[in-house]
Amino acid sequence: MLYDFRSFINPGYYAFGKGSFNHLNELIDRKKSDAQSWSVFMIDDYFKGKELERRLPKSESDLVIWIETTNEPITSLVNRYRDEIIEFNPTLPSVIVGIGGGTTMDYAKATGLMVTNPGDSADYQGLDLIKNEGVYTICIPTVSGTGAEVSMTAVLSGPERKLGIKCDYTIPNEVVFDPELLSTVPAEQRFFTGMDCYIHNVESTTGTWINSLGSAFAEKSSELCLEVFLNTNTPRIESDEKMMVASLLGGNSVTYAQVGVCHALSYGLSHVLGVHHGVGNCVVFNQLEEYYPEGYKQFKLMQEKQQVELPTGLVAGCTEEQLNQMVETSWALEHMWNNAFGADWQNHISKEKIKELLLKM
Ligand code: NAD
Ligand code: ZN
Repeated sequence: MLYDFRSFINPGYYAFGKGSFNHLNELIDRKKSDAQSWSVFMIDDYFKGKELERRLPKSESDLVIWIETTNEPITSLVNRYRDEIIEFNPTLPSVIVGIGGGTTMDYAKATGLMVTNPGDSADYQGLDLIKNEGVYTICIPTVSGTGAEVSMTAVLSGPERKLGIKCDYTIPNEVVFDPELLSTVPAEQRFFTGMDCYIHNVESTTGTWINSLGSAFAEKSSELCLEVFLNTNTPRIESDEKMMVASLLGGNSVTYAQVGVCHALSYGLSHVLGVHHGVGNCVVFNQLEEYYPEGYKQFKLMQEKQQVELPTGLVAGCTEEQLNQMVETSWALEHMWNNAFGADWQNHISKEKIKELLLKM
């Protein structure tokens, strides 16, 4: 232990259970102050033309922004979405609703803040740099595992680094957990995002920053992940509901502790090569048996049961410059190394070792 004392914030409201999405209009109406009040829906473009689009409780005066998820969130697009909102209607929206996975929810969280904070979102990457509270944000996960729905971070890649905007205002004000929205997630994606959660738990419980609160969240979360990915006979709706809870608990486990070796390396991979977070974590974790032997064993069991192949040779074709950039991105994530190994972390890991691990991926 660790950094400064902090009292952590959580979302103000949780709605939970099948059919919760049907009540979104009530949640939005509650925030409307007058007849001119309007809302923004930021929604994963997977849902374009699908039933969920028709179910959006939107009116003529609302704005819908479709989020493309090929790439993970970038600061320049957050700025663009903010401009689009202000051009659409210069009065502040009463609510921003983010519907999708970690990518979409992080866009909603970051954009909601940038509407009330001037300038470039890249200038706010870091801890407590945001000055003003954002627009009331409702997050609705449609694939579970990242914990973005309960975290006080919006992870963004900027011109210089992959780093979250992190402060009390980044927390969503409200979360709607409806497992029915997860029913269409393909098995492989479900595994990759689910393993993000499992890895959050492994890294928090084995780290030096862990305490009883973080452990309690992580232990229950891991138990649920194992049920979801090992008990393949459970009806999908039941296991999706469990995965939603696992994600919520896993997100809180890292709030009260921190991630570690896997996330530090995977941020390097995704910042330089654009590898998606869930996939990148699995590729990295697959090489981390020496650091996380127990977690590794369970991870391999779940992978085998789910019959998911991991990409290989991601780093093989990289230039020396790209490789060095990955190493520097990882090395800079001091808080993750500090959690993994303690304050003397530089005695436990070197840039050469990071390079050696990356070259296996
Ligand atoms: P994602 O949001 O990128 O979505 C992955 C894929 O699943 C996309 O193709 C999407 O269209 C699809 N999808 C989503 N819902 C679907 C549904 N119901 N049916 C069919 N397809 C669906 O993936 P993710 O793993 O949830 O999020 C990754 C992002 O989360 C990364 O940008 C990462 O940095 C971020 N993240 C944030 C935090 C945080 O605390 N803020 C924590 C971990 C990860
Ligand atoms: Zn993660």
